[in-house]
Amino acid sequence: MRWVRDKLKFLIIVVISISLLAGVFIFSIRKKEVEIETKRVLVGSVKGLKLIIVVDNYPDGELKTAWGLSILVKTPKNTILFDTGPDPSILRENLKELGVDPSEIDFVVISHEHGDHINGLSYLAKVRPGLKVYVPKGTAERIRIRGLDIKEVDKTTKVAEGAAIIGWLYGPPAEEALAINVEGRGLVILVGCSHPGVVNIVAKAKTDLGIKPYLVLGGFHMIGASESACKETIKRLIELGVEKIAPIHCSGDRIRSILEKEFPQNWLKCHIGSVIEVSASTP
Ligand SMILES: [Zn+2]
Ligand SMILES: [Zn+2]
Repeated sequence: MRWVRDKLKFLIIVVISISLLAGVFIFSIRKKEVEIETKRVLVGSVKGLKLIIVVDNYPDGELKTAWGLSILVKTPKNTILFDTGPDPSILRENLKELGVDPSEIDFVVISHEHGDHINGLSYLAKVRPGLKVYVPKGTAERIRIRGLDIKEVDKTTKVAEGAAIIGWLYGPPAEEALAINVEGRGLVILVGCSHPGVVNIVAKAKTDLGIKPYLVLGGFHMIGASESACKETIKRLIELGVEKIAPIHCSGDRIRSILEKEFPQNWLKCHIGSVIEVSASTP
């Protein structure tokens, strides 16, 4: 009898231990899922947007061309300036020519600390004192221009409805991108010089926001890149889901001509003054 009781006790202990262990196991799996979930940044979305290339080295019309980059983004909720070009007077004149009043700008996103992207800031400090400027972590001291509210960003962060800064990637130098989620289309990603690699930036935007990329516009840093390197970049962007590719600024002519000839459905020809509208209804 005693032998049976001992065996029963042992069985009960085994059953309790197994269920406790199972509980711990299930809990740890759940916890892992939650961690993955919380890492994803919930960015929201906008119905559409308009991009205007304010400064670029690919010329067109009356606008002042210079080596550098600045792109204005207008969503139904915000106006954001991505980079500011190489010269305060060029930024001033081109904004004027395009009919953009600097008082419209809600905030600025700086991709990286190179002069051809930040030198227009001194014009904004004059006409928009206190304007918020997001810069990559570790660069505020070098970029600091008196009169602006400079904020460092280290990780992917929502900065407006539908808009997030994609950070932090190192080239060198440290660089961040701007991604806007357009309903029915996916991410519109703006890149400065892509020093960390345009494919790496787009892949990070896709992972951090959990949204398919649609368009990538900006400098791809591929001057002098071989034909195979250009084709590999295009192939990998398309594999990530990118539908429209718009290399300007420091991208080099080779990737532009390969896109034009061999990937016309993905090629978006852009230069200074280009206006690109994206919404679920635009073709
Ligand atoms: Zn540049
Ligand atoms: Zn650069």
